[in-house]
This record gives sequence, C-alpha cells and structure tokens, in this order.
Amino acid sequence: MGSEINVYITLVATSGVLNFFLGIYAFAHRTSIPYARTFLIYNAALAIYIFGFAFELSSDSLEEIKRWIVVEYIGMPASAVLSLLLVFRYLGRNVSRKMVAAMFIIPVITLFLVATNDVHHLFYKDIYIRESSPVPLVDIDIGEWYIVHGAYTFGCLLGGLVVLLRRWRHTKKMYRIQHATLIVSQVIPMLAAFLYLMGATPWGMDPVPMVLCLTSAMYIWAIVSSRMLTIVPIAKESLFESMREGVIVLDGAHRIVDYNRALSGLLPRVSHRTIGKTLFEAWPELTGEAFPFVHSVDGMEEELHWKTAAGPITCLIRSSPVISKGGDALGTLLLLIDITEQKRLQDQLQNLAFLDGLTGVPNRRRFLAQGKEMLEKAMAAGKPFAVILFDIDYFKRINDKYGHETGDRALVHVTEVCRRILPPGALFARYGGEEFAVGMPDAAIGEAVEWAERLRSALSAEPLLTGTDSIGITASFGVAPSLVDGDTLESLLRDADAALYDSKRNGRNAVSLVAAAKE
Ligand code: GH3
Ligand code: MG
Ligand code: MG
Repeated sequence: MGSEINVYITLVATSGVLNFFLGIYAFAHRTSIPYARTFLIYNAALAIYIFGFAFELSSDSLEEIKRWIVVEYIGMPASAVLSLLLVFRYLGRNVSRKMVAAMFIIPVITLFLVATNDVHHLFYKDIYIRESSPVPLVDIDIGEWYIVHGAYTFGCLLGGLVVLLRRWRHTKKMYRIQHATLIVSQVIPMLAAFLYLMGATPWGMDPVPMVLCLTSAMYIWAIVSSRMLTIVPIAKESLFESMREGVIVLDGAHRIVDYNRALSGLLPRVSHRTIGKTLFEAWPELTGEAFPFVHSVDGMEEELHWKTAAGPITCLIRSSPVISKGGDALGTLLLLIDITEQKRLQDQLQNLAFLDGLTGVPNRRRFLAQGKEMLEKAMAAGKPFAVILFDIDYFKRINDKYGHETGDRALVHVTEVCRRILPPGALFARYGGEEFAVGMPDAAIGEAVEWAERLRSALSAEPLLTGTDSIGITASFGVAPSLVDGDTLESLLRDADAALYDSKRNGRNAVSLVAAAKE
C-alpha cells in the first residue's frame, strides 16, 4: 500500500469531516435556514457515503470492502435524489409526498440489490481488487441494475441542472450568484463522475466523494445567503406585484426599467419590449396619446385618459423620485391609480345635479350657470343673445282633470316638441314646475321672437295624445334680448318674466317682447 492511498483516504475523510461540520452548522441554525430538514437529510446521506468510502479504502479484504460498499449505497443513491429535491425547494417548487416517495424507489432497490448482490449478481457481476494498481482499489464488472442506478443518479443531477438553467432567465440579478453557485454544485459531481468513468483520474480513483463536500458547502451557502437576500426583496417584490395600482419604474434618463402586473390592466399593450424605451416614446405606443410632458415627470400629479379595448381609462398619475441610500437620485416611480369608475360616478352625480329628473333636459341650476357663460361669450364677441321664458297655460287644470301623472306626461311632451324645434346651440331648460327657459345665442330681437313664435305654434298645434284623450296644450311666452352692455342673465330673466306675464294677461298662448325692446 503506497502513501498515495493514505493521501487519498485523508482527502476523502477530510471531505467527510467538512461535510459533517456543515451538517452541524445547518442543524444549529435549522430554525433560520429554509428547508433545513431536506438539507440535513441530504447532508447525512453524503456523510454515510463519504465515510463509507473512506472505510472501503482502508479495508484489507474484499469481504470488508463489500460491507462498506453496502454502507456507501445507503447514502449515495439517496443523496442524488435529495440534491434534486433541494433544487426544487430552492426554486420554490412544490413536490408532493407521494412524488418524494416515488423518487426514492430506485435508490431503495439499489441498496437492496447491492446488499444481496452475492445471490443474484444484478448490481455487479464481479468485483475484484485491482492488481496493477499501487493502491488496493476495486474494479467491478457492472451488472444490469448498475446501469439503471447510474442513469438514475446522473439523471437526478442533470434534472437539477436543467431546472436551474431554465430558471436562469427569470432569476433576478441579485440572486444570480446564488443561482450560479447551485448550477456549479450540480456540475461538479457530474464532471468528477465523468472524469472517473473516462479513466482520467490518477490511479483510477473515484473523485466524487472528495468533491461532494464542496457541493454541500455551495448548497448551504446559496440557501443561507439567498434567504438573507430573500425576505425583504421578496416581500417588496410581492407587494409590487400584488398592488392594485400600476407602477412604472424609470431610470435617470426616463427609460422604463420595470413595471408591475397591475400595469397590464391599465396599459394592455405593455410587454417586455416596452422595457428600455423612454416613457415619452413608449407612452404613445401604449395609449395612442402623447405624454403630456416632454422632458421631465418630476412632481407630476396628473389625470390622464386613454382608450383600451375594454373601454376608456382615466388614471391619476403621480411621480415620486427613487433615491438611493446615499441620497442620489436614481430614477422615478410612476404610480398609476385607476380612477375610471370614480370619474364615471362623479360625472353621473354631476349630471344628476344639473339635469331635470323628469324630462332629462338641463335644470334651473344648469341654465343659470351655462346661460351666464353664453351671455358673457356673446357680449365679448359683440354678438346678440336672448332669453325666452314660457309657462304652460292652465296647467293646474290638466293636473286636476287627468291626474298628476298625465300632468307629468304633458311636461315631457312639451320638452320633446321644443327640443325638436330648437337649434342645437340653444340652451333649453326646465326652469321651474311648468316653466321653461331658452337661452338663444346669436339671436337678435326679431329672430328671438320668431323662435318663440315657432315654439308657441308648434305646442298649440300638437296636443298630448293619451290614447283616450287629446289634450291641447298652450303656453305663454316672454322674450328678452340683450340690448345694453349692463344686461345680466338675471336681468334678462326678469324682463322675460315680465313679458311672459304680459302674454298671460293678454289672453295666454301668446308671445310678448319685453317693453324696452319694442322701442
Ligand atoms: P297659468 O296659465 O296662470 O300659468 O295657470 P296654471 O294653472 O299653469 O298656474 P300655475 O303656473 O300657478 O300652476 C302651476 C302648477 O303646475 C302647479 C303645480 O301643481 C303644477 N306642477 C308643478 N310642477 C309639476 C310637476 O312636476 N308635475 C305635475 N304634474 N304638475 C306640476
Ligand atoms: Mg307657472
Ligand atoms: Mg302655468
């Protein structure tokens, strides 16, 4: 036995001891290490394998060697499965208990066949001490099950490698080192086993047990350090993703760096292709609208509208700077708060406040507000404006004779007739109970009287037909055109009311012009 074998045994035993310490470390920190239990079982399996191997190397007889090989096979096939499970746990994949049990079927059969090999020779056909070797290494002629076991073990490591590689693209930059470490930890034993099988290791020794403590160390480092990285960023990440508000992260040059899931609900065209574009070039592509600012979004608090296939959207967009711990401005966070529904309700309420509930035309409040604007605009442009006020004649009688409901229908009827006749620019409103007002832009005295006359004759010509009755409806009109600069909407309404009263006095169903306008 040469000194090489002692070096070899020492290296293997050292690997075993290091691995043992890792196990103690993991056990001591088991409450703070995620999936510590899986790691500890994995670690124990490795320890059994590595120490079994060390004892195999220091054995004197073939019988002794065979006994230690059985011990090794308690640990080794299981460790490959456990390493795959660790990768799954690290990546957050759920593996059911049944699945775990199924994964151990082959390792259990392997152990059983290794232990009973002398009976069936399914695992190795023959095992003998290598004569040419300076160290007492054994050679084996492999049996059928050895191939199954080898392929399965290799497959577990390869499987772990593949899922890690596939996840690489979706791994956030900050976890890349951990991820790469796990990838290397999968590759190392595969590479070692490969070199061994190719006969490329010195004295044909098996390097796998020596490198396994490295694999183990890499696992524990990746698990512990990514956990330290994990909790806060993952909590932040999940907050980011579960937010109802859309978020866009911009760098210092207003390039889009990141966005959250909720943003896709507001900007359905957003995709990974949006990343890297500036906000100002991406916004028109996403919304069909130009972004209202061209250079900066600092201190922005703006309501923006755009259309999507699902309907129009109104968002409140608020910007806030992203500042590093050192106080440097890194970029900007845009918060998109969907206020579409809120806006719609607001509009609806506003409409309710300004529209007459029975007839659907503007109410007195709306007439006073909008009429004032129209008058001011006309005066500023030096154009005429007139107010027509009318009151239904003997309306009480309609109520008394046919009932209040028919009275309501009469009001709706009057509204319909008037709306049909009036030009689109006219402001027509229900001014009071059965009193209506019209604001006529661009109408000089003569035209205003003409419009009033048209309404009067149309009303008197169109009775309300109830099915059983034909109810004649007439109204008395007062017309007040704006004549002097001092006219206000209130003064015009007062004048029109006075003229209306003239019409009533003169027998109703008539149009009267305010006295001042007649001169
Ligand atoms: P006049 O020709 O002098 O105007 O006679 P009138 O009967 O129309 O008299 P007045 O203007 O004083 O009466 C208005 C009536 O209109 C009183 C009220 O009961 C009725 N009225 C007001 N608002 C409504 C309504 O929304 N629906 C119904 N059905 N009636 C209403
Ligand atoms: Mg009245
Ligand atoms: Mg009346």
